[in-house]
Amino acid sequence: MIDGATGSRTVSETDVVVIGAGIAGLCAAGELVRAGRRVIVLEKSRGVGGRMATRRVGAAVCDHGAQFFTVRGRGFEGLVRDAAADGAVTVWCHGFTRNAAPVAGDGHPRWRGATGMTDLPKRLAALATTAGSSGRCVIRTASRAVAVGPSGVKGDGHRVDVMLEASDGAPVEGLSARGALLTTPVPQSLDLLAAAGVALDPATGDRLATVGYDPCFALMVVLDRPSLVPPPGGMQFDVDEGAVVAWIADNQQKGISAVPALTVHATGRFSREHFDAPPADVERILLEHARPWIDGDPARVVVATSLQRWKFALPTTVVAEPLVAVSDAPPIACCGDAFAGPRVEGAASSGMAAARWIDHALAAVADGRAP
Ligand SMILES: Cc1cc2nc3c(=O)[nH]c(=O)nc-3n(C[C@H](O)[C@H](O)[C@H](O)COP(=O)(O)OP(=O)(O)OC[C@H]3O[C@@H](n4cnc5c(N)ncnc54)[C@H](O)[C@@H]3O)c2cc1C
Repeated sequence: MIDGATGSRTVSETDVVVIGAGIAGLCAAGELVRAGRRVIVLEKSRGVGGRMATRRVGAAVCDHGAQFFTVRGRGFEGLVRDAAADGAVTVWCHGFTRNAAPVAGDGHPRWRGATGMTDLPKRLAALATTAGSSGRCVIRTASRAVAVGPSGVKGDGHRVDVMLEASDGAPVEGLSARGALLTTPVPQSLDLLAAAGVALDPATGDRLATVGYDPCFALMVVLDRPSLVPPPGGMQFDVDEGAVVAWIADNQQKGISAVPALTVHATGRFSREHFDAPPADVERILLEHARPWIDGDPARVVVATSLQRWKFALPTTVVAEPLVAVSDAPPIACCGDAFAGPRVEGAASSGMAAARWIDHALAAVADGRAP
């Protein structure tokens, strides 16, 4: 069952609350349901997927967060293989052009969603909430967590309190769980813990404080004619000093848009330096840099644009472990793409590892083995 904010408010107690329905949160939810746990996933947006994001701009369909993913580990490979068999994901290509020069494919598949990058998260959400789970997993979209921490002043070792607010203006609501996973970007997770009055032990606080992210502007540009981006429709650029554009994709060549449309990603440095600049200025600069791959005068051939600003786009420093435990009893941990490996596969692996950790931790609390 996927509940919007106006849906049922009767579920107030569960085994595990997962904050965030990106790939990490959805992989964690699926793993926990398979282990027989009841799960509530809270997602502040109206849909699932987080940074695996697809948007309609006029008649075009554009991926504006993650553009593709690779598969290296066994856990993620199984999940992708099943999704491919169901037609939810497919191989895009085996390599992109680099600085506009053709690159021989390295034999390593670059995967995409069949109709957009949200296809994989949507499939995982459907599996977690339906397939044999008989209501054990509820995903509440348009529901923003505002505080997560052990219940009571110091906690009784058994419960986690989660406060959330819905986007429909309903009053702040409380949830009670036996454990919690925070899959939000680390600065946001730290805010949620701080809002609940959680004082991290210094070593844990120091490890989490090492995580940093680059922001990223994503400009979507709908064209009235095919672009000049060479096959297979993805161009990577060196992000050396002064570089403005890191990536340009042609969503039509990629196979997700019926009409020509580019996604232009700015470099981390440009995005940081222009983060608070007027959007119209950012859009103009990015369009200027994409100009060589637009066939004609942008003033005439650009049909529509849309600019997305990601504050926490890509981790620049990651923690070496797949999760960081904030508390063992009740079990609370941070996970996501800043743990063990950045990007889609790292986030998925971290979510699965965190689910296994919390399942064991709950068992330990239940039989009195937890500290
Ligand atoms: C522009 C861009 C390009 C990228 N390109 C690639 C690429 O080509 N290949 C690749 O592998 N990776 C790429 N990535 C990285 C990849 O998208 C991420 O590593 C991965 O999707 C992270 O997944 P996650 O589940 O850890 O986090 P997220 O996807 O960020 O999920 C966290 C979720 O938590 C939700 N949330 C936040 N706060 C709250 C709250 N208080 N309450 C409830 N919910 C909340 C968010 O809405 C979000 O849905 C890119 C990312 C960006 C932004």
